[in-house]
Amino acid sequence: SRLRDRLVKTRQGLVEKISELTRRTREIDEDFFEELEAILLGADVGVEATEELIDQLRAAVKEKKLHEPEQVQEILKEKMAILLGSEEQGLNIDQEPPNVVMVVGVNGVGKTTTIGKLAYQLKQQGRKVLLAAGDTFRAAAIDQLEVWAQRVGVEVIKHQEGADPAAVVYDALQAARARKTDVLIVDTAGRLHTKSNLMEELKKVRRIIEREHPGAPHEVLLVLDATTGQNALSQVKLFKEAVGVTGIVLTKLDGTAKGGVIIAISSQFNLPVKLIGIGEKLEDLRPFDPGEFVEALFA
Ligand code: GDP
Repeated sequence: SRLRDRLVKTRQGLVEKISELTRRTREIDEDFFEELEAILLGADVGVEATEELIDQLRAAVKEKKLHEPEQVQEILKEKMAILLGSEEQGLNIDQEPPNVVMVVGVNGVGKTTTIGKLAYQLKQQGRKVLLAAGDTFRAAAIDQLEVWAQRVGVEVIKHQEGADPAAVVYDALQAARARKTDVLIVDTAGRLHTKSNLMEELKKVRRIIEREHPGAPHEVLLVLDATTGQNALSQVKLFKEAVGVTGIVLTKLDGTAKGGVIIAISSQFNLPVKLIGIGEKLEDLRPFDPGEFVEALFA
């Protein structure tokens, strides 16, 4: 499948190493678990999720009296699927319009690209989409959003560079109402390394949305770059506390061996991964289905 092909590096770094380990191991002993642990950590599954998986495997091996290392792989697959969440978590965008999706994340993670892809997919589904250029900190961010909007065929509400993002969002909400927009997607700034306080700005944007449209934002999607591995975890903490994230979008899963980070994210925070990015094209954003993902990984 396409997903399977795109996950090739993560498969090599994780599943193929585990297969190789189970093939050359004669019995399930301490060394086996230690090597397995090292593989999981090396694939960015993270300390907590790795410990949890190893503990569960030890318990299962004992309980089921397993002797064949290969049987462990099957159980690992099951346990990983459980950590990834039981089922696909769709976007909450079928409320009274306009549904508001706020998109947050650090610069460079793929936020603009994700917004473009999402707008495209929602439009394909027959929804009326509007974008708000809420990253007024960089002129390039506004331009880039417009390029995507043109490609996809949706409108953008924008102000000048340096304008108050909350004012842009206020205007966008009025426009969304007037135009009977189904989904308003709000881009936001992602500068982390400047003195001006990004989190305060995002909170203010959120407050305006809440004030102008009770019940909104319907989604606050945090975009994370899978290639940054464990760094992505600290970003979850930061944004979750500041703006109340409702779901994760994990981008750039294609071409990275660090795809195991999706397990760390899913298990450590009480937050669903809702979408994954597996390439640069419009169709390379897809709903995250844990079962399908694990099957593609182990296929
Ligand atoms: P932003 O600064 O967060 O808005 O990031 P951009 O949307 O500009 O994306 C940064 C880079 O990541 C661009 O070169 C995108 O093409 C690339 N990108 C975004 N999503 C994906 C993905 O899922 N896979 C790959 N391979 N590249 C991606």
